[in-house]
Amino acid sequence: MTRSYAIRTYGCQMNAHDSERLAGMLEAAGYQAAEDGGQADVVVFNTCAVRENADNRLYGNLGHLRPVKDAHPGMQIAVGGCLAQKDRAEIVRRAPWVDVVFGTHNLGSLPALLERARHNAEAQVEIKESLEVFPSNLPARRESAYAAWVSISVGCNNSCTFCIVPSLRGREVDRRPGEVLAEVSALAAEGVLEVTLLGQNVNSYGVEFGDRAAFSKLLRACGEIDGLERVRFTSPHPRDFTSDVITAMAETPVVCPQLHMPLQSGSDAMLKAMRRSYRSGRYLAILDEVRAAIPHAAISTDIIVGFPGETEEDFQATLDVVRAARFASAFTFQYSPRPGTPAAEMGDQVPKDVVSERYQRLVALQEEISWELNRELVGRPVEVLVAQGEGRKDGATRRMSGRARDGRLVHFAPGSAQVRPGDVVRTEITYAAPHHLVADGEPLDHRRTRAGDLHEQGSRPSTPATVTGLGLPAIGRPLTPARGGA
Ligand code: SF4
Repeated sequence: MTRSYAIRTYGCQMNAHDSERLAGMLEAAGYQAAEDGGQADVVVFNTCAVRENADNRLYGNLGHLRPVKDAHPGMQIAVGGCLAQKDRAEIVRRAPWVDVVFGTHNLGSLPALLERARHNAEAQVEIKESLEVFPSNLPARRESAYAAWVSISVGCNNSCTFCIVPSLRGREVDRRPGEVLAEVSALAAEGVLEVTLLGQNVNSYGVEFGDRAAFSKLLRACGEIDGLERVRFTSPHPRDFTSDVITAMAETPVVCPQLHMPLQSGSDAMLKAMRRSYRSGRYLAILDEVRAAIPHAAISTDIIVGFPGETEEDFQATLDVVRAARFASAFTFQYSPRPGTPAAEMGDQVPKDVVSERYQRLVALQEEISWELNRELVGRPVEVLVAQGEGRKDGATRRMSGRARDGRLVHFAPGSAQVRPGDVVRTEITYAAPHHLVADGEPLDHRRTRAGDLHEQGSRPSTPATVTGLGLPAIGRPLTPARGGA
């Protein structure tokens, strides 16, 4: 009988994409996705060590699953991802009913480890210190018919003091451009309209194979791919951001007018303590250059409030940069120590109530700016790639939702048109809120797409395994085209 699987994913886009690879591998090994609400024979936790209390949450979830497993003979539980890489055998010690623990470097071992655990009736813990196979060479079962992630690199050569990524994901490994482009082309051939290029630091892409302009060349090459309409990327790093990337963004129409570039702090003293090797002046200069080349670019960021040693003056410097940068949106985080990072050991931790008060002020300022910028768009037309699951209230409001080219979330009235996720709609903005736009008029235009057809049929691209190992050029295209940052 075919065994079923379910994957529970925590954390960043990188992890979400790894889960697509895990699903692809399990399906290639003969498993099938469990039905919604049904009990899976194999439950995989793809964990994240970046979030606060990630370990408590994992052990809580594993605890809930124990009686379920007792009631389902043959059921298996696997734990992978960053937390598994960090805690290793500790997981089986604390939760002995777990069958398999695998790390960030050996996703590809999951089916074999499940098999071995079943055969030996014994938990299998396998953690590798370096990457065995670039995860993109593993088969994938994609979540979406219209948008896909494509990894260009994994790991990071920086050493930001708040970040656990380098110790868990290792040094940067770059995928060869030919392999990346083959995957993007295969996805576009399957109807995918939007691709997000993923790396912990996309701007250092190419450092491993000696081409500092590799990322801008990659963006331009994406512009040549038939059928592809939107290219995004995450995350850039101000230290490595170069003008050729800005020019490529401006001159390649498929590259979306959007930039999500982590600031982390506006205080130079804090940037130094975070071991972020740019300063606020350099950061703002990059934004000026981006806006000169792409005037309508929506720029967003990540900011940490209350890093150890942050004074009121440092915090004011962050507010000053936020005012000057005029971000369309910002992910704001209250600093809390992550075990295993240098910052967790620093003295001068800022009291929680101070962090939370500063955080409220930052959020209020950013909301004001986001709202002001969004209001400027009222009355303007936007192109929306219709998505599923972006609008929580869509059922009640009879709207649909999707992203504008600049990444803004738009809730729109579909009017009389039979609009499907994956289709493209042009509509006029009628109302702005700080975190979204509303378009309540009849759409100006509705384009039915192949992605919309495939979505309607429940069909998703699946990228098969490629036959290359690490560091080797791709051997042709994938066999059949068929799916915490800087
Ligand atoms: S924050 Fe980003 S750039 Fe810094 S170490 Fe982590 S992944 Fe690398």
